[in-house]
Amino acid sequence: MSWGLVGTPPKQPQNILPSIASAGLTKPVPAWFLETISLLVDEGSPVFTPTRLATCSWVQYHEAAMFPTNFIAIGDSTMGLNPIYGQGCSKIMVSLLLLDRMLREQQYDQSLSPLFAKQFFHELKTRTRGMWVSSKYEDYQRSTAGPSTGETRQNGKLVRWANRLVRQAARKDVKVARVLSSIGHVFALESALMRPGILLKILWAQITQSTSGKTELRLL
Ligand SMILES: Cc1cc2nc3c(=O)[nH]c(=O)nc-3n(C[C@H](O)[C@H](O)[C@H](O)COP(=O)(O)OP(=O)(O)OC[C@H]3O[C@@H](n4cnc5c(N)ncnc54)[C@H](O)[C@@H]3O)c2cc1C
Repeated sequence: MSWGLVGTPPKQPQNILPSIASAGLTKPVPAWFLETISLLVDEGSPVFTPTRLATCSWVQYHEAAMFPTNFIAIGDSTMGLNPIYGQGCSKIMVSLLLLDRMLREQQYDQSLSPLFAKQFFHELKTRTRGMWVSSKYEDYQRSTAGPSTGETRQNGKLVRWANRLVRQAARKDVKVARVLSSIGHVFALESALMRPGILLKILWAQITQSTSGKTELRLL
């Protein structure tokens, strides 16, 4: 579970159970899970250690004109994201699966194509760019976030607004929730949200929410 988009991250042991409750889940958390957490909080003496993380970064290797043929970079060496969204392990798995597939497509008796690295980074960009854009612009909502060069925290309003619409719809519709989960785990690209059936569900959730007066259409 990541705390980036739901609930309030706990900062003290006594905040752990209230934080889970604040996650706004559509189904109640099973009692056994809460009992287990409660036991761990009481008996396990959890410790919170503030950590200063490196600045988020995206090395845009796909923009480079030339590479040594056998040069590859994966995982955090290409993109360092804010860990509160819990995307780092998905990102490294995507890199590995892509590299594995591309290597298997090579002829065993021939050396790597001179375009191997270029194609790898191009495909990696297609799969991971959404993570960067989405998490960066979500971060801009926090007063502690320092924007990228040439941007202000006002950038990305549309992305934040669209993200919010999709999350609202996912709470109501299991198909939207599945697509959102697949995108979060990089099993699908963001374009999956543009499928007519899913788009209609997102719009419908917004309309019904608007008529019940619970929504906020303002761009934040
Ligand atoms: C506090 C925190 C919480 C996180 N929480 C989550 C989470 O909940 N979910 C999630 O998916 N992701 C999370 N992440 C992100 C995730 O841990 C990383 O994205 C992921 O580990 C990246 O994997 P990697 O293999 O690219 O790099 P790493 O896991 O950093 O692996 C690189 C390895 O290379 C080694 N190394 C470095 N230099 C050299 C060298 N010169 N020679 C030999 N070895 C070297 C390092 O020691 C390290 O073992 C979190 C990150 C942090 C910091």
